[in-house]
Amino acid sequence: MRGLASIYNYVKGTVVCMKLLSVVVPCYNEEENIRDFYNELFRNDSFFKEKELEVELVYIDDGSKDKTVEEVRKLREQDERVHLLSFSRNFGKESAIYAGLQKTKGDFVVLMDADLQDPPSLLPKMYEYIEQGYDSVATRRVTRKGEPPIRSFFARMFYRIMNKISKTDIVDGARDYRLMTRQVADAILAMTEYNRFTKGIFGWVGYETKWLEYENVERRKGETKWSFWKLFLYSMEGIIAFSTVPLTLAAVMGALFCVLAFILIIVIIVKTLMFGDPTSGWPSLACIILFVGGVQLFCLGILGQYLSKTYMEVKKRPIYLVKEDF
Ligand code: UDP
Ligand code: MG
Repeated sequence: MRGLASIYNYVKGTVVCMKLLSVVVPCYNEEENIRDFYNELFRNDSFFKEKELEVELVYIDDGSKDKTVEEVRKLREQDERVHLLSFSRNFGKESAIYAGLQKTKGDFVVLMDADLQDPPSLLPKMYEYIEQGYDSVATRRVTRKGEPPIRSFFARMFYRIMNKISKTDIVDGARDYRLMTRQVADAILAMTEYNRFTKGIFGWVGYETKWLEYENVERRKGETKWSFWKLFLYSMEGIIAFSTVPLTLAAVMGALFCVLAFILIIVIIVKTLMFGDPTSGWPSLACIILFVGGVQLFCLGILGQYLSKTYMEVKKRPIYLVKEDF
């Protein structure tokens, strides 16, 4: 890997300052897409030349069980610009993004999915905005074409709730497809948390961001790695990592129930004193006990979630482990 961010090439006696663009591609079982991605990316070759951009393509193999690594190796034999960092097991896309930012030294870094859902043809336009002075150019899809309606519905709900309860701006439909300057990449690297919710981290670091919108593109080959359950857990991670409102909610709920109980006690005392009428009806009492018990467990669960995340953070385990690096 290059130590210098800029590479100086001598061309016909003149010094040409080439900027380095690092393309980071997290891959998990993407053997069918590795070569297609390479071909699509370097379709922009004339653009890279025109802008005097040196390109390095870094595949991050997130513990794939198929031939992803072999495919990257084959590409490397043909082209020195191809690099690989493979993990000892599957650590998740968030870890792959972190590893990619850490491995690359480019003046600009772009994060892209291997399945070509992040069209490389958008790159020239994104780079234009960077030239105009933006620190980062992010993309969001305006349609969710090709996605099951139930998944879209829950995704929308998640963004709505998230933006209500978190101060960090998390944009609906935002993809991880992002071109950023080294400064932004370093800011993201400075956030060394173990539970990484990248969409929130992008929002948290700030910097001037230009949003580009595009129609959803369906995955070229293979299948999505996100089951409904995995997405649910990921959304929980996002909420816990970027909001403490659930904790406040638990406290408020507790306080409300105390007030309610106090009022009811007074009502019962007054009723008994005035009418000497002992309160009857154990079934309703059982329901109330069950309900309050449920609320207590729910609040305890919220607390447990924060505690478990804190537990993982204090262990300070590495975000990923490397198996191969070239
Ligand atoms: N990915 C990864 N590790 C994982 C899951 C996914 O590196 O544990 C990569 C995957 O190979 C792809 C990108 O993250 O390049 C996005 O994954 P996918 O296309 O499955 O997600 P979707 O586009 O359906 O949200
Ligand atoms: Mg995809």
